[in-house]
Amino acid sequence: MVTDRAVAGPRRPLPLPFVDDELRTRLAAVHARIDRAAEQAGRLPTDVALLLATKTQDAPTIRAAVAAHRALDVPRRLLLGENRVQEMVAKGPALADLGLAYHLIGPLQANKVNAALRWADAVDAVESAELAHRLGERRAGRAPLDVMVQVNVSGEASKHGVAPRGAASLAAAVAAEPGLRLVGFQTIGARSDDPLVVCAGFAALRAVRDDVLASGAPGTAAAVELSMGMTGDLEHAVAEGATIVRVGTAVFGART
Ligand SMILES: *Cc1c(COP(=O)(O)O)cnc(C)c1O
Repeated sequence: MVTDRAVAGPRRPLPLPFVDDELRTRLAAVHARIDRAAEQAGRLPTDVALLLATKTQDAPTIRAAVAAHRALDVPRRLLLGENRVQEMVAKGPALADLGLAYHLIGPLQANKVNAALRWADAVDAVESAELAHRLGERRAGRAPLDVMVQVNVSGEASKHGVAPRGAASLAAAVAAEPGLRLVGFQTIGARSDDPLVVCAGFAALRAVRDDVLASGAPGTAAAVELSMGMTGDLEHAVAEGATIVRVGTAVFGART
């Protein structure tokens, strides 16, 4: 006998919230993009980590994305990144048990250093020696904090970061802080539709890193990371050597 589902009793909850399915589909697509770009560049797909850029997303959504990533069982290192210290403070407690490194990928104001040190496993947008010194000083006596130097490869005035010609000396200043460990470099790609322009910017970051590594300056041996590439340009970044791509929109949808 055919029963009318509407009157057969209370509806069973869906096995997964709709958003999980959607997150899983989007994440799978991002992983496929990274894999393809790595293969085309002759690189190992596992050499590129995925940092979820979680600005404006709430903790349950971030947890759902992490669960979706784990369900996909892709052999790719996953990191979390926030732009603002306030968002780290607000969401950090609800994310701590995930066991993922929490990166501060946005600019850090001097008056937020203590809060950043409380929540960040890495600070990826250091753009001045003063900030590096303050971070190092406050970190003293604990395991060194992982730090990246942010470089403005495009020269666009709206972008944070040290100019490429100043990057090596800032990197040396970070490396000289006993409380800090220089682990690499971050940039935000040129805002351009011309792939040559975008790639040139990413190649410039790679050149900065290679020069710093080759300098043999004290404390620079671990500066291997290139955090570059976002939703719109991650293929170019992977082609130019990105070890971390930072993706928000392609995973979570457009920010409203
Ligand atoms: C928002 C943001 C991203 C991710 O950008 P999408 O285009 O949404 O992928 C990456 N890096 C930084 C520093 C960001 O602020």
